[in-house]
Amino acid sequence: MAEICLVCNKKIGLFSAPYPVEVGSGTKDIHFQCRHKYSITPEKYGGPSDKELERRTTEREHKVASHASKRQASVDENQANKKSSVGNSSQSAIDILSTVNTIVALCGALIVLGLFLLGFYQDQGTGWLLVAVIFGLLILVIWSLNRVFIGIAEDVKGIRKRLEDSN
Ligand SMILES: [Zn+2]
Repeated sequence: MAEICLVCNKKIGLFSAPYPVEVGSGTKDIHFQCRHKYSITPEKYGGPSDKELERRTTEREHKVASHASKRQASVDENQANKKSSVGNSSQSAIDILSTVNTIVALCGALIVLGLFLLGFYQDQGTGWLLVAVIFGLLILVIWSLNRVFIGIAEDVKGIRKRLEDSN
């Protein structure tokens, strides 16, 4: 059954290209060459009115906008996660290093104290006193080197954070 074009009221023949347009809740075919005439005043042919089309455009734009803002939010979230994870991991590394350094220094101090006591209470204690001084200096050097390293680590962390903030 041949359809009648809504625009020009002529038959849509087998060899003419039908162009589906929106009419009511469904679609109907019109001539392909009639589509311009239809698009000027679609509501005249039972299609959506200008207001309806405008509403749809706004809706579509709103969807795009909300999608974009959602994506922006997830990007922000990702950056926040990345920032906090970098901060946490390097902060915990610094904390561990700092704790270990303190323990090493305390153990060293105890050993040095033990060696000093050994030196004081033994008859030939000068050897122990010398060992105590050398060991004490060694611990001091290790401790201060670690302090320097921790300082560098904290500087690096600060630089990384600043770099991330500027991104
Ligand atoms: Zn037509």
